[in-house]
Amino acid sequence: MARYTESKCRICRREGTKLLLKGDRCYTDKCAVERRAYPPGEHGRARKKSSDYALQLREKQKVRRMYGLLEGQFKRYFEIADSRKGATGANLLIMLERRLDNVIYRMGFANSRAQARQLVRHGHFSVNGKRVNIPSILVREGDSIAVIEKSKKSLVIQEARDVLARRGAPDWLEVDEQEFKGSIKTLPNREDITFPISEQLIVELYSK
Ligand code: SF4
Repeated sequence: MARYTESKCRICRREGTKLLLKGDRCYTDKCAVERRAYPPGEHGRARKKSSDYALQLREKQKVRRMYGLLEGQFKRYFEIADSRKGATGANLLIMLERRLDNVIYRMGFANSRAQARQLVRHGHFSVNGKRVNIPSILVREGDSIAVIEKSKKSLVIQEARDVLARRGAPDWLEVDEQEFKGSIKTLPNREDITFPISEQLIVELYSK
């Protein structure tokens, strides 16, 4: 399967914002965006004029990379979002939030979405009591998600819970850290996604 291999910190620097791709390190002063707040590369510090297209492209890349998706996957989410009732941009973001790997990251059972994806693929979680290995599953209201019994001792999962204490879980999720489980209280709405995103720019980009 195709994978994105560029350095994670380089991605954040290019997008000019902390995308929190590396878990624990992102909350320390070792974060590359904190230390070098300009784009990577030889001409990174040069001031550039941004066209409308460049702004739209960067916004799309920022969101796509934040959720760790390939171009084709992201485009498919956009097409589904566009075919649904309501605002396309909000539909898109809500769908991305509902991905199982994102939910596990938000619940604090993984340090990053990339780590959550790998843990799901390796079968460390169950949804409604059934073991799963597909990170792109879209959770529904009332779903319960749990770390499977033998994975509760996993150091990776245990360490991730410490980071949760720093960032907290969003209101639409209920988390029982002691029992290594959580549930979807309600589906997220646009206001629950507090990371600064101008989704209208993405809609404009794909509407060309
Ligand atoms: Fe991005 Fe985290 Fe690297 Fe900072 S430490 S640049 S937030 S991946």
